[in-house]
Amino acid sequence: MENFIVSARKYRPQTFDTVVGQHPITNTLKNAIKNNQLAQAFLFCGPRGVGKTTCARILAKTINCENLSPALEACDACPSCISFNENASFNIYELDGASNNSVDDIRTLVDQVRIPPQMGKYKVYIIDEVHMLSPAAFNAFLKTLEEPPHYAKFILATTEKHKILPTILSRCQIFDFRRITIDDIAGHLRYVAEKEQVEAEDNALHIVAQKADGAMRDALSIFDQLVSFTGNRITYETVLENLNVLDYEYFFKITDQILSGDVSGVLLTINEIIDKGFDGQHFIIGFGEHLRNLLVSKDAVTVKLIETAPSIRDQYLEQSGRCPVTLLIKILDLNNQCDLSYKSSNHKKLHLEIALMQMCSLVMKEIPATETGSIPPVTVTRAPATTGSASPPQTKRSTVPPAGSSADKKTVEPIKMKDLPHAFDGVVSLKNPTPATNTDSDSPDVSEDTSEIANPFSQTDLCDYWDEFAESLRNDSPHLFSTLKNSRPALSDEWTIGFVVDNKVLETELSLKKTELLEYLRKKLKNSKIQLKTSVVENPKTFKPYTDKEKFELMADKNNALRTLREELDLEIEY
Ligand SMILES: [Zn+2]
Repeated sequence: MENFIVSARKYRPQTFDTVVGQHPITNTLKNAIKNNQLAQAFLFCGPRGVGKTTCARILAKTINCENLSPALEACDACPSCISFNENASFNIYELDGASNNSVDDIRTLVDQVRIPPQMGKYKVYIIDEVHMLSPAAFNAFLKTLEEPPHYAKFILATTEKHKILPTILSRCQIFDFRRITIDDIAGHLRYVAEKEQVEAEDNALHIVAQKADGAMRDALSIFDQLVSFTGNRITYETVLENLNVLDYEYFFKITDQILSGDVSGVLLTINEIIDKGFDGQHFIIGFGEHLRNLLVSKDAVTVKLIETAPSIRDQYLEQSGRCPVTLLIKILDLNNQCDLSYKSSNHKKLHLEIALMQMCSLVMKEIPATETGSIPPVTVTRAPATTGSASPPQTKRSTVPPAGSSADKKTVEPIKMKDLPHAFDGVVSLKNPTPATNTDSDSPDVSEDTSEIANPFSQTDLCDYWDEFAESLRNDSPHLFSTLKNSRPALSDEWTIGFVVDNKVLETELSLKKTELLEYLRKKLKNSKIQLKTSVVENPKTFKPYTDKEKFELMADKNNALRTLREELDLEIEY
């Protein structure tokens, strides 16, 4: 079996021109060589894997070459170049600051510096991770850095420039290496793939480049891994699978679903993503990136900021053409808010779902249904307020009425009682419990039925069905059961059934069941015009204290000292 050499080493650039994505730096270095203005000490800063050590080695090799090409590249043929290429040159010393950071290590190095090169012009000292040197080691090094022999060059490399002492910084020529762009990395991967005779899809290489986050070394090691997993064929799917990357298509899909207000589709898609083992936050970050890409696709000038394969860039252009900028910004804002509060949420999936549903509803407001080609939106309409009472608005679901007929009740579709939010129906204010009588009735149009049957019925029938309904409450709501049992319904004018309850509290409880009762009676008595009218008659004889407040008032009525006690001590009752 032949020796496997990792791609990062095998394809390490040997000349300035082959260094990927750092042309400003390599050009400056070449110019310095050309003009013979090389500094004695360099500081190479930048993220990991962007070519700092590679450039340092190329510099060491080039300045020692005996036969520089006109393009100021090493010849790769002279004895010095050959010894460099074989890693056998005595003119280069590499020290890892992370593991050799003591004063002694630096003293050994300083002793070395005193000996002039036996061959070639320069001795080059490369100290990697120089920020890891101990303060004492730094100090021991400083003297040498201040007055180095003419043949010595120092190249210090670091990922953390801010940790370097100012005394060192001031003695070095500083080069800031930048992250390598995704396009540059993908291009280099393409080159390596061709050399290695690996078949690779463009999209796949772009994903690898993205995952490497600007570091060529990482990109190449991911590439090596993929080759060993999948053989000599790297596809988009295998990359997604092996790198645990969420497919772009999901973001395009969910954006389309949001744009068409397809709430169910959105929920299913996010569920599928989470089922595949992706973290919600992972999705939010990716979706934010997607929305940002859509935003920059809006302007031809900013399109180049999208770092993806060209085919996907076209897809972005197509989708962004369908989203208004204001909408994109609002959705991006919602996504951002979701991101910020995601970690502190106790129900993370729901949190995410709510954010996505909010995005859908944003679209409903921004884009008319005809534009999105979606189903007509469900609207909430308000029934006319009931007479002078404090009833909250009653909501009902209905489809949008045809234009010009909004006031015509006949065109409103029949309302299904089970669709009505019972909890809101006929709730009576508790603010004013003292009046002896109080009446309020259901808003007539809530219970409007277009079938319009109005069968006559007898009082006995009414009482029978009334009791039947009361029976159904016996186990679940014994209170209501006895209230209904005690209250005899009576048919008054025009199908309005009046009945009396003892107090407001019971009335309130009953109101939760009122629509059910009404529906039941209408069905059983085959009369869709029936209305219910509740009256509260507080009967002192039958009054039973029910709430804590009523109990207190009752006791206080018997013994006024209680009231005094409460006032003196400023006590409060928890109602
Ligand atoms: Zn040479």
